[in-house]
Amino acid sequence: MTDFSGLDLIEPLRRALSAEGYAAPTPIQAQSIPHLMAGRDLLGVAQTGTGKTAAFVLPMLQSLAKSSHGRPVPGRPRALILAPTRELAVQIADSVRIYGKFMKMSATTIFGGAPIGKQIQALGRGTDVVIATPGRLMDLLNRQKLRLNDVEIFVLDEADRMLDMGFVPDVRKISNMIGRDRQTVMFSATMPNAVAKLAEGLLDNAVRVEVAPQSTTAERVSQKVLFVQKPKKRQLLTALLKDDSISRALVFTRTKHGADRVARHLEQDRVRTGVIHGNKTQNARQRALNGFKNGQLRILVATDIAARGIDVDGVTHVINFDLPNDPETYVHRIGRTARAGAEGQAISFCDHEERGYLFDIEKTTRNSVEVHEDHPFHAPEIANSDPAKAKGPKRGGNKPRNGRGNKPNGAPKAGKGFKARGQKGGYKGKRPANKGGHKSGQRGGGNSRAA
Ligand code: AMP
Repeated sequence: MTDFSGLDLIEPLRRALSAEGYAAPTPIQAQSIPHLMAGRDLLGVAQTGTGKTAAFVLPMLQSLAKSSHGRPVPGRPRALILAPTRELAVQIADSVRIYGKFMKMSATTIFGGAPIGKQIQALGRGTDVVIATPGRLMDLLNRQKLRLNDVEIFVLDEADRMLDMGFVPDVRKISNMIGRDRQTVMFSATMPNAVAKLAEGLLDNAVRVEVAPQSTTAERVSQKVLFVQKPKKRQLLTALLKDDSISRALVFTRTKHGADRVARHLEQDRVRTGVIHGNKTQNARQRALNGFKNGQLRILVATDIAARGIDVDGVTHVINFDLPNDPETYVHRIGRTARAGAEGQAISFCDHEERGYLFDIEKTTRNSVEVHEDHPFHAPEIANSDPAKAKGPKRGGNKPRNGRGNKPNGAPKAGKGFKARGQKGGYKGKRPANKGGHKSGQRGGGNSRAA
């Protein structure tokens, strides 16, 4: 399938897609949309960045348009989308508005940490689609501010994250409040047993679609590692940011305090920086995210939890100020760049304690990360140290999420140039291969999709 014409989408949706500059469906869209338009339940295994949001939002809007009886009934939405985080809920709502902008369709976002009164008012006015995090939705259901009897389409996004965050009991309760003749759609980046079991209980004779196993994004991102002594990391970041090609970068730190420290340091350097982590209010987070999306901020410093599901187009670089101890987290982080077929770069700082983490990451992703020595703080003693003897804090992540645990998959692939540390070579600028993704250039870079 080369364009959207084979998908039988109604005119207002086709118009919205061309306004967005989408030339062709992504693989997950091409595989899912026909089944969803036929009314089937669906279990999709796909990560953010694959275009999965449009894969469920487009058929949902089309179906709602067909069954519409005019104005929405107060407190009785016809579609419910559950997301694990507020940020993801806001992003999905943006997508609903963008794809539905030539239709008469209303959407309300429900999440904790924001005034409940406004959410109650919006529900009272009537809304076709509710996009919610489970906790706040349960609160509003208990207060009888909405009922789910009229829900025709129920979507559960990032089911594995729901599981990680302990939302499964709420999800089951919510599901039980919706009639059985609904259509149910579930997306998850990984499929551990617990998610498969949840799917079994929620879905009815579902088709399963799957795109690009987890490491694919990693293959599209050009990666390099810079060995540096821990106290020199901030200076290294300053030196690095002299490069103007780093125009929109996410900087990851392990801790909230670390994030604040790095952000303060960058602000002192007059770099336009925002910061998001769990101690920030919802407003502060959203302001930082908006500033980053609209280009006012060049750098967004984030911790892993806060960054979950962030979808900003045109992130040129992901900088791992601290390496994560869990290889899957590394893959998630670097997947924030090279979105929708674009190219991206991941730069990781590696200090003595993190040497072992790098080893684990290379094994799991079956890829040797290119060493970049050509910087003022290169630490050959770290480069040449034995990763097996690295004394870093706990390695191997917190919990298995993909049924494989976090065990390395095996040695890096032969022929990929698994280079001895300290060997000269620097950054060779490996071209991202754009494997498995949709074609680049379908969408101008740099534009955010915030409405
Ligand atoms: P998602 O995986 O839904 O978070 O989408 C990732 C990014 O891909 C978003 O920025 C979308 O705007 C973009 N996108 C979705 N579908 C397409 C498409 N068919 N062509 C180009 N870009 C797309």
